[in-house]
Amino acid sequence: MNKPAMLSMDEALAALLAAAVPVAETETVSTFHGHGRVLARAVRSTLNVPPADNTSMDGYALRSADATAAGAVLRVAQRIPAGTVGAPLLPGTAARIFTGALIPQGADAVVMQESSKAEGAGDEIRVTINEAVTPGQWVRYAGEDIKAGAEVLAPGARLTPQACGLAASVGMAELTVARRLKVAVFFTGDELAMPGEALRPGAIYNSNRFMLRGLIEGLGCACTDFGIVRDTLEETRSVLREAARDHDLIITTGGVSVGEEDHVRPAVEAEGEIKLWQISMKPGKPLAYGKVRRPGAENASSMANFIGLPGNPVSSFVTFLLFVRPFILKCQGVTKVEPKGLQMRADFDWPKPDRRREFMRARMNAEGGLDIFPNQSSGVLTSTVWGDGLIDTPSNHSIKRGDMVHFLPFSELLA
Ligand code: AMP
Ligand code: MG
Repeated sequence: MNKPAMLSMDEALAALLAAAVPVAETETVSTFHGHGRVLARAVRSTLNVPPADNTSMDGYALRSADATAAGAVLRVAQRIPAGTVGAPLLPGTAARIFTGALIPQGADAVVMQESSKAEGAGDEIRVTINEAVTPGQWVRYAGEDIKAGAEVLAPGARLTPQACGLAASVGMAELTVARRLKVAVFFTGDELAMPGEALRPGAIYNSNRFMLRGLIEGLGCACTDFGIVRDTLEETRSVLREAARDHDLIITTGGVSVGEEDHVRPAVEAEGEIKLWQISMKPGKPLAYGKVRRPGAENASSMANFIGLPGNPVSSFVTFLLFVRPFILKCQGVTKVEPKGLQMRADFDWPKPDRRREFMRARMNAEGGLDIFPNQSSGVLTSTVWGDGLIDTPSNHSIKRGDMVHFLPFSELLA
């Protein structure tokens, strides 16, 4: 085959995102089950929120003109709990009112009960207002949050709990979302054993399997786990064919480097094509993107996407977050797929940078700076649990204590 040159991360990501085609199929889900799904149709409000003027405090509704100076005394003519509708308010009177209750016609302000003193009982309650009242005080106006007709959620939004709450606040019981992306995953390596099994000499536990499944499901995908696949061309090809049948994307770990035990790339070439391979980054160089034919379907548009991640657990974690995550999000119809990150202060020195762009596992300290994990090797999974995120360091870029660096927090990358 024609060996492609090593790509920069930006080139690789641009090519990957260009190949990510959003799923066309949508489905309707209860707003209760919207969390984590991607909105396919805008949510518009048919109503004002709040629907009518109401009070944000427990207290007294009144006409501000009746209390322009502290000390006004008004007769309490009615009582309006939340969920009821009061009578029009006559001049010189006040209404006892509770948070969320509608402002009665004629009233234009609310006085907090803490700024008043009520005396008397039954029909003869009088309230002294201990402040000068400003028109509009403690009133929440109709449509102040949302105006009838407004778009409250745009298509391509990933639904957070607060977005589901917002949809519910305009009365939406159901939402139209993109169907879940179907992702198949398998793990290559004759050395792999499962937790619960005894470790034979030379074996290691399959940590990638637990990490990848969580990452894939965390993005709202339906994940099929094909388990451990032995290091042979035939077995790799046969699982690829099986996985391509009914999945949008196949993700693998390991076996994608240059050794003769690395069968993933030749297997994908035999069952389809490799479009990108090897990216200039650390950790994670041996990343591959390609397509796998679906059994029985000959046209290219119906091929399954393939992404091969490196075997080293830190490399597969980092490349998943930086490449697979935006790819999956775009396939799910999400419009904003790349992390924003933030500038933070380095509280360490990094005098010997790599030629490749490097992603260091780092943690925020109490002084508002970043510390790095002492061992940045791609086999040290501990660093990913210790850390709060990744520092994105350009190639050949040394860092001095106090420099500002670009930090990608896990709170953003794992959302
Ligand atoms: P490979 O890319 O297959 O050469 O694997 C690179 C390194 O990652 C080797 O040390 C493997 O043993 C290790 N490795 C591969 N797959 C896994 C896995 N699923 N879980 C943990 N380590 C793995
Ligand atoms: Mg291997």
